[in-house]
Amino acid sequence: MNFQYWHPQTEKMPRSELEALQLQKLKEEVGYALRTTFYKKRLEGAGINTPDDIKTLGDLDKIPFTTKHDLREGFPWGFLSAQKEEVIRLHASSGTTGVPTTIYLSGDDVRRWSGYVARCIFATGCNKSDVFQNMITYGLFTGGLGFHYGGEEVGMMVIPSGAGNTDRQFKLMQDFGTTVVHATPSFLLHVESKMKEAGVKRESLKLKRAFAGAEPYSEDTRKRIEELLKVDVYNSYGLSEMNGPGVAFECQCKAGMHIWEDGYIAEIIDPDTMQPVKEGEIGELVLTILCREATPILRYRTRDLTGFYTDPCPCGRTHRRLRRIRGRSDDMLIINGVNIFPSQIEEVIMGMKEVGNNYLIVVEKDGALDRLTVNTEVRPEIFMDDSRPLNALKEKIRKTLQLSISINPKVDLHESGYLPVSEGKAVRVKDMRPKDL
Ligand code: AMP
Ligand code: ZN
Repeated sequence: MNFQYWHPQTEKMPRSELEALQLQKLKEEVGYALRTTFYKKRLEGAGINTPDDIKTLGDLDKIPFTTKHDLREGFPWGFLSAQKEEVIRLHASSGTTGVPTTIYLSGDDVRRWSGYVARCIFATGCNKSDVFQNMITYGLFTGGLGFHYGGEEVGMMVIPSGAGNTDRQFKLMQDFGTTVVHATPSFLLHVESKMKEAGVKRESLKLKRAFAGAEPYSEDTRKRIEELLKVDVYNSYGLSEMNGPGVAFECQCKAGMHIWEDGYIAEIIDPDTMQPVKEGEIGELVLTILCREATPILRYRTRDLTGFYTDPCPCGRTHRRLRRIRGRSDDMLIINGVNIFPSQIEEVIMGMKEVGNNYLIVVEKDGALDRLTVNTEVRPEIFMDDSRPLNALKEKIRKTLQLSISINPKVDLHESGYLPVSEGKAVRVKDMRPKDL
């Protein structure tokens, strides 16, 4: 494979140099943090009064964790380390788990961030001759503008189409010869379902690649999108607290997401004991940003469950690779005492070729017990008025799920297009159980 690097010196930097760079940047970041009202108190309480109190990377341990709750407590200005007039951009988390939190960026912060996103895009083989349709929400959410600026930095022609309106998306793709798209995996599947209906032939499109992220999805879902849309799909990971997209991304080897360690320090901890897990084990990802001056955030507990691959990547980059996010330590469902992640259900159903592109998991109370219903659409080729194959499919899904998650779910099948489609992150779980029980 012919690998291309946006910043070869940094991307292939020997580990010892990379770690020395991290230490230098960590000290700078602690300096910014000490200028914020939130961290001044927090860090001084931990005995860190100047950046020089951090002498080695191991001293990271002295810094207490930061949580989403802390960010909300510091709202609106508690984490701002620059003068307000230095700030040129504000972003906010989509609030997947509640009240949004805000991030401020200086001009240099925006430029650095765009550089990381450009590095990701370039690593997939794109260049300035590509036409990039950014089919994701613009606005406070970081996915839109983050990829927009990164795409421009690479020199591609960026079409800021935003999410939704598949008919317009197809028209743009055809009129301008779009070669790359960015969207949530659920929107990509939705686009594929709508293609036939809109009378669009795949051969009329020049699509080659798709960047898919912002929500968890399985390897089977990736394969499904790749087969149906005939594109190469690259996993993209980021979160607004760490700027947004551009934190970790797959290279052409598609063997885990390189986390840019000159911009972020990644730790994996056991969410119960808060101690580091053994190298390679799964735990909660904790991130420290090293590339932002206006809003320093140190040792942020992302709640995302993942681990590192321990073998080197054939592409030659030295930055470690994260596994596909398994879910969040807080979206785990406990159903009749059994812990399950929605991703486990997705793995089973998306692996079946009869199953359509959308699904919804509903959890309700049925007397004292919890009842799990898995609603899935079926592929348009399957006729809804022929009940025999439908019943057989229902039974196959039910049995396979039972084997995989140790719960006997109810399975409801629907025709393609029946389940609601969200323009932003997909809503895959409806937990209707009373919260105070
Ligand atoms: P936000 O701050 O609104 O951008 O949401 C960030 C969260 O989206 C992350 O903490 C993850 O839980 C989720 N997320 C983003 N990218 C991915 C991805 N590629 N795979 C799984 N989850 C993701
Ligand atoms: Zn690689």
